[in-house]
Amino acid sequence: MGYDIDSPRQAGTTRRDALGMAAVLLAGGALSMGATGPRADSGSDDSCTATYDPEFEAALADADGEIPEDADRGIAPVGPPGRCALPLRRRYRVTTRYGVRGNWLAGYHTGIDLAVPSGTAVYAVGGGVVVLARWSGAYGNAVTIRMPDGHFVVYAHLSRIGVRKGARVHTGAWLGSSGATGRATGPHLHLEIRARRHYGSDVNPVRYLARRGARLW
Ligand SMILES: [Zn+2]
Repeated sequence: MGYDIDSPRQAGTTRRDALGMAAVLLAGGALSMGATGPRADSGSDDSCTATYDPEFEAALADADGEIPEDADRGIAPVGPPGRCALPLRRRYRVTTRYGVRGNWLAGYHTGIDLAVPSGTAVYAVGGGVVVLARWSGAYGNAVTIRMPDGHFVVYAHLSRIGVRKGARVHTGAWLGSSGATGRATGPHLHLEIRARRHYGSDVNPVRYLARRGARLW
């Protein structure tokens, strides 16, 4: 498809039009992975309405403040020469793309939804320090990791959390199992990457990971 969704916050009319078109396209069904790339798939709507949650944001701010700035010393940095990894090692379907406009507080989807059966192992896309690993409101059971480049990654709707707050994890580390906890309409991993800690500082996870060697699709 010809449109490109990168940074909706800077969207102009053309971008909004493109997003509107994406929303229309998505209204007919979810996107899924095929041998030739994303394709229409009307079989499932496993996605989420994870959005701004004051409980989660407050807990994240508190927890982040408790972790020393140098806690991630020695962890390989994300980005060249460091490489990222995919969060899932089995086949998944992209059910809601990043930036799609809708009923989220930001006005668009702040992460990407990867549909997999509950219980699927979830791995760290990049190393870092576990800032939060607990119930996170709309995000359900979630693991939030602060990476050495300052970005935060939220792995949401988990059925099982396998790491503890304060743990140092490396790229590819097992974090837990996917699920449908929190505001989710079906089992999937909501992967959200933020440039800073707060809601709304999200970046395009597909682009972020692709630039570091991991292609979500
Ligand atoms: Zn989502």
